Amino acid sequence: MSAASTYFSSTYKEARGKFRDAAFAAGARVNSHQNPARGPGGEELWSDLAWFGPEKAERMLLILSATHGAEGFLGSGVEVGWLSNGFPRELPAGMGAVVLHALNPFGFAWVRRTNESNIDLNRNFVDHGKPHPANEPYETLKDAICPRDWSPTGRAEADAVLQAYGGTHGAAALQSAITAGQYRHKDGVFYGGTAASWSNQLLTQLTRRLAQHARKIGVIDLHSGLGPYGVGEIINGHRIERPGFRKIVDWFGGEATSNEGGTSSSAVVEGDTVTGMEMVAPPVVEIAGVTLEYGTLPLKDMVDAVRADNWLHVHGKLDSPQGRAIKSQIRGAFYPDKDDWKAMVWDRAVDVSRRLVKGLAGS
Ligand SMILES: [Zn+2]
Repeated sequence: MSAASTYFSSTYKEARGKFRDAAFAAGARVNSHQNPARGPGGEELWSDLAWFGPEKAERMLLILSATHGAEGFLGSGVEVGWLSNGFPRELPAGMGAVVLHALNPFGFAWVRRTNESNIDLNRNFVDHGKPHPANEPYETLKDAICPRDWSPTGRAEADAVLQAYGGTHGAAALQSAITAGQYRHKDGVFYGGTAASWSNQLLTQLTRRLAQHARKIGVIDLHSGLGPYGVGEIINGHRIERPGFRKIVDWFGGEATSNEGGTSSSAVVEGDTVTGMEMVAPPVVEIAGVTLEYGTLPLKDMVDAVRADNWLHVHGKLDSPQGRAIKSQIRGAFYPDKDDWKAMVWDRAVDVSRRLVKGLAGS
């Protein structure tokens, strides 16, 4: 087993313990926020924040994990590695850091992408006082995306509808229809919600707190599920017209992909974390963030795991052979529990973290 493998955990609870141990050992100031829900074993759910450097630093690094709960296995492992390998000590003078463990602790504990209200947190950071973004293709395909019948026959019929759509409109259009986000069906997939969720409020409060002193904030939001196995894609999290977009291009060059520009494995999504931070930070605060997205399985397998998990929590029975099989399926779709994958993940995280800190320091 490589050293990197020891950073990763098998459960939310184990991950939280490792994170807190590593944070205290690295000399962090730690504060925690309890989510009102509970885990599958009745356990408490917390988001933990480890703070380093000056309280009033002008430059702040923010690392986020488990925006999508089931991706917390990945994000937690990277954060524990970051804390355990002296990275807090490498921060340039005058730069602080906040490492936030489990922004969506419910989804992490229950091995779901979504939160306690079936909300996809990375679609939730929109202005809920305005009409929500429309997703007409999802409306057209919703009964095929989330069929009531998840038997082999029901799935085959549903998949035929999706394949026909992809055949007519293209694979990218099909991916967008399913994953871009939707705001009308709370029992559906990639649901953005109709109000700011608990996790959204936590990140919003944190952004306001940071913005009291920080003038430049660099963000790494850790994700898994898209792209080739073990490869960490640097997705530029900004709209092309935002100042942060140019910063990320400066720091990472052509390596940073853009979903708006069509170079990313991700569809264009509305309401992600970095956009949410931009919404609440005053203009004097520059935010430059990336989604570091690690590949796991082929796209269709990942999307099918999300569909299956949604079916299970809406219609199925967790405590059943099928329920256990689906939980194993979704876990594997976001967390290949393999040493080679973890080593690739960690090497890339080291690289991206160092480059982002360097860019932030020089900006
Ligand atoms: Zn994600």
